[in-house]
Amino acid sequence: MVLLDGKKLSAEIKKEISAEVTFLKDAGKKVPHLAAILVGNNGASETYVASKAKSCAEVGFGSSVIRFDEKITERELLEEIGKLNSNPEIDGYIVQLPLPAHISSQKIMEAIDPSKDVDGFHPVNAGKLLQHLPCFIPATPYGILMMLERYKIETVGKNCVIIGRSNIVGMPMSVLMARNAYPGNATVTLCHSKTKNLPEVVRQADIVIAALGSPKFVKAEMIKEGAVVIDVGITRVESKETKSGYKISGDVDFENVAPKCSYITPVPGGVGLMTIVGLLKNTILASKHELYKR
Ligand code: NAP
Repeated sequence: MVLLDGKKLSAEIKKEISAEVTFLKDAGKKVPHLAAILVGNNGASETYVASKAKSCAEVGFGSSVIRFDEKITERELLEEIGKLNSNPEIDGYIVQLPLPAHISSQKIMEAIDPSKDVDGFHPVNAGKLLQHLPCFIPATPYGILMMLERYKIETVGKNCVIIGRSNIVGMPMSVLMARNAYPGNATVTLCHSKTKNLPEVVRQADIVIAALGSPKFVKAEMIKEGAVVIDVGITRVESKETKSGYKISGDVDFENVAPKCSYITPVPGGVGLMTIVGLLKNTILASKHELYKR
């Protein structure tokens, strides 16, 4: 069994990005700048945004966090989005989800200029992804693609079962694994909460991508001998072993599943770190204005 080491791989790719930033600086070009909008005081969101800012600093990007009180109205937030869209200093930005209930995430996503949409959630980028056109690929699927590619994992003609069909992970992942490219050319089955006989479906898989948000859902008996298992899940579960009183759990019962796999990602230390790399890659792409001319 080979551990798909997100820590090692993300550090390696960050080094490459950092070298690219040095190259841009030396050529007198603008250093990429990623901004994040944060509304309210959600603890998990704070942590995610802080780790994105830290990664930006590591590779030499500029970054900024734009904070708003949770009482900000949808209209006011849309105005702020408009300002970011026209600010030439900001190459790309993300709106950290979830937003307060009185704000429509969909409306906010659609207001982002697609050329700055480094999360790849805007319908224009989602549509381009579907048609295999150059676009911002959502960061988590992008990170998984890089992982498969760097570990040279064979995907052609493989049965790939994805559990979870969200717009940010499962759905784009299914499109990417099915398309005529590498990684890709797999025969994809996309499972969700209405899927019947899910264990039986997962047992057919050469590659399993679990993105449902249910700790240790994927058990050893669901896994074919030699399968590749990618665990996207991140759920805080109570734990007596840690000071904080909780730990992060993936969607895969790692301990029992790992011995059956050819490759598997750990949680933490797997897909999460690759997601940040996906975001950094998208930001550098945005700064080059190659996808969308500005
Ligand atoms: P989401 O929007 O909540 O979607 C969950 C999906 O899983 C839905 O499609 C749902 O089906 C399906 N599902 C739920 N329970 C199921 C079950 N028992 N059997 C089969 N399918 C089931 O989740 P998400 O945003 O994609 O996130 C999924 C997990 O990945 C979460 O733990 C999240 O924290 C994590 N995540 C990690 C990263 C990372 O960087 N590692 C990034 C993003 C998300 P229905 O559509 O039928 O409801």
